[in-house]
Amino acid sequence: MQISSVCVGVAGGPGNEDFVLVGGRFVVVLDGATANGLPTGCEHGVGWLVGRLGGALASVLVEEPGLDLREVLREGIARACALHPRCDLANPDSPSSTVALVREHDGWLDCLTLADSPVVVETVDGAVTAIVDDRLERLPPMEREAVSRLRNTDAGFWVASTRPEAADRAVTRRYRTAEVRSFALLSDGVTRLVERFGWSWEQLMETLEKQGPGEVVRAVREAELAMSEGGFLGKRHDDATAVFGLAGPAGR
Ligand SMILES: [Zn+2]
Repeated sequence: MQISSVCVGVAGGPGNEDFVLVGGRFVVVLDGATANGLPTGCEHGVGWLVGRLGGALASVLVEEPGLDLREVLREGIARACALHPRCDLANPDSPSSTVALVREHDGWLDCLTLADSPVVVETVDGAVTAIVDDRLERLPPMEREAVSRLRNTDAGFWVASTRPEAADRAVTRRYRTAEVRSFALLSDGVTRLVERFGWSWEQLMETLEKQGPGEVVRAVREAELAMSEGGFLGKRHDDATAVFGLAGPAGR
């Protein structure tokens, strides 16, 4: 695989809570959830969790190259939990993260997404498919306390935090590697090009291939700066991660 990536925080922001790790045959992308101000029961913080979970997932992927990706995620969450046993892991506001994984093994390209960090795959016939977990997106706007009650419940949405069974709710898909032309893993700081700024997934994949992940992030920042004050919900800027993989002959 031939992989290129960009992972940038917001200038003047609290620090980048996205995470990318590229191995020879796998990619891990995480997007830590910004702390909502409620007590977390954890003395560590979002950046700590994202780094430990990313490291744990990479360890599992190296140790067991053919393991089902849901099992990889289950084990990664369990290992991250074991690193802070004195924190209150029953607190629903414990630091959490989205997860996107792509792994090549034995002729298959396996993809997994949990929460709003999708994986996009372009097959050799030119079809572009976004593999998304849209549980969070389907929720109406609500107070942070209501979000807490729905986090890691089947009535709400699932994220990687302190509940290994979140792995069972991840969305997965697999392709024969010979079927795949390219793929991307994206945090929602980049997918807002599609969700908010009118891009298509096809346009996003074409730009990633022809101009690289840096150009995609540049386009996000340009569109964000053009938004009028008060004309949008949430943050003007977000941490932005784009990983692009070319799986065709040039990338093998
Ligand atoms: Zn902790």
